Amino acid sequence: MKALDELTFDNRFARLGDALSTHVLPEPIGDPRLVVASPAAMALLDLDPSVAETPVFAELFGGHKLWAEAEPRAMVYSGHQFGSYNPQLGDGRGLLLGEVYNEAGEHWDLHLKGAGQTPYSRMGDGRAVLRSSIREFLVSEALHALGIPTTRALCVIGSDTPVWREKQERAAMVLRLAPSHVRFGHFEYFYYTKRPEQQKVLGEHVLAMHFPECLEAPAPYLAMFREIVERNAELIAKWQAYGFCHGVMNTDNMSILGITFDFGPFAFLDDFDAHFICNHSDDQGRYSFSNQVPIGQWNLSALAQALTPFISVDALRETLGLYFPLYQAHYLDLMRRRLGLTTGEDDDQKLVEKLLQLMQNSSVDYSLFFRRLGEETAELAVARLRDDFVDIKGFDAWAELYCARVARDGNRDQDQRRTRMHAVNPLYILRNYLAQNAIDAAESGDYAEVRRLHAVLSKPFEKQPGMEHYAERPPEWGKHLEISCSS
Ligand code: AMP
Ligand code: MG
Repeated sequence: MKALDELTFDNRFARLGDALSTHVLPEPIGDPRLVVASPAAMALLDLDPSVAETPVFAELFGGHKLWAEAEPRAMVYSGHQFGSYNPQLGDGRGLLLGEVYNEAGEHWDLHLKGAGQTPYSRMGDGRAVLRSSIREFLVSEALHALGIPTTRALCVIGSDTPVWREKQERAAMVLRLAPSHVRFGHFEYFYYTKRPEQQKVLGEHVLAMHFPECLEAPAPYLAMFREIVERNAELIAKWQAYGFCHGVMNTDNMSILGITFDFGPFAFLDDFDAHFICNHSDDQGRYSFSNQVPIGQWNLSALAQALTPFISVDALRETLGLYFPLYQAHYLDLMRRRLGLTTGEDDDQKLVEKLLQLMQNSSVDYSLFFRRLGEETAELAVARLRDDFVDIKGFDAWAELYCARVARDGNRDQDQRRTRMHAVNPLYILRNYLAQNAIDAAESGDYAEVRRLHAVLSKPFEKQPGMEHYAERPPEWGKHLEISCSS
């Protein structure tokens, strides 16, 4: 276990030079105070969890203090936002403080979000508000606990610094951890500004640091692109299987590592709705729940375009073709598990589709359905769940198919079925209204609810005594919260 001043830095991205990022110092926020910290994320840096309570922790992650070895940089990138190319984005309010390596030899980027203005702030104030910082913190750690690849969050630091959004709010900072902060948009930036030498510097760095096994391949860039396609197909399969809506799948918010990245108006589905749009500003539903799958491929093709200086168009096209089949295979595998199946049959895809169609028309709570399905034998569970469906006849027909399928699957031991299903079907998910309750309390200075919710969500599959209300269906108001990009 380390103290805060014992972190070991090795700032590999900063060493790539000024073409890729700009030195900027954090602008501190007033009266910094700890809102919440993640002991599990602190462990990634070998930090003793008790250091979160020390004043220096809030000073470091509130922008007041800096390690001598840190080299804060704002990265430059561009990207496609809602389908249109935006030539200059970059870290407008976040800074890569440096890279720390832990005792296991892993490198972690320390990225401080809400750290003040940078050359890429455009019209923005460089700040992040408390509400969005808490949302990013909670969802990062919740996704991780669900087994969905994501950036991590070390802590949120609150302040008394006023910031103006639709109304006056308070500034906060969230410390994000990731093995890399390189986005699809990094490659797009150097491609569209026609700077092949810089793009090569970036490409060689990403290959060496994050895809070293691809360097062994006959065509390293192609091997890397293939790996990125594979990881994204798997990531988006997980989002779809668990009802996670990202909300702003612009290419500047897509990680080169295939991890969930840059959170805005995200949501987990409450009632199942394939057409759900979590981002109030997304008028066309470009990033609706079901569109995430084709958008994943659209984003990969935007990256492919940027990689044309390194890889032939034919090879890129062929590799892109892997996305849908890989996505399908991962998705089906996850849904089979969620249904308690241990084997595969040709008609399983149809079984899943039919269930989702029935859910779509009946306002069935997506997460709780699967949890309840595993509570009892298939026959007893469907008998209890049928009342939630409007089309009872339709559900009965599905239930008959499902029970027969479960019978063919073999193992009839109910204890084993429950254990197996509960290990993949969470009892607790980060519902928007739960986040909102925690935010409301935090905005009035009470951080107990954020901390409690974080603790509950860090063990989403485990029943936790006294926490039953976190596993309930949301109240009506909680299903219709409007979350926009303004953060
Ligand atoms: P996001 O929607 O958070 O992914 O941000 C898109 C772009 O806008 C990125 O370049 C951000 O750095 C920038 N940005 C967002 N909010 C602010 C802000 N308050 N101040 C400066 N830049 C911002
Ligand atoms: Mg972003």
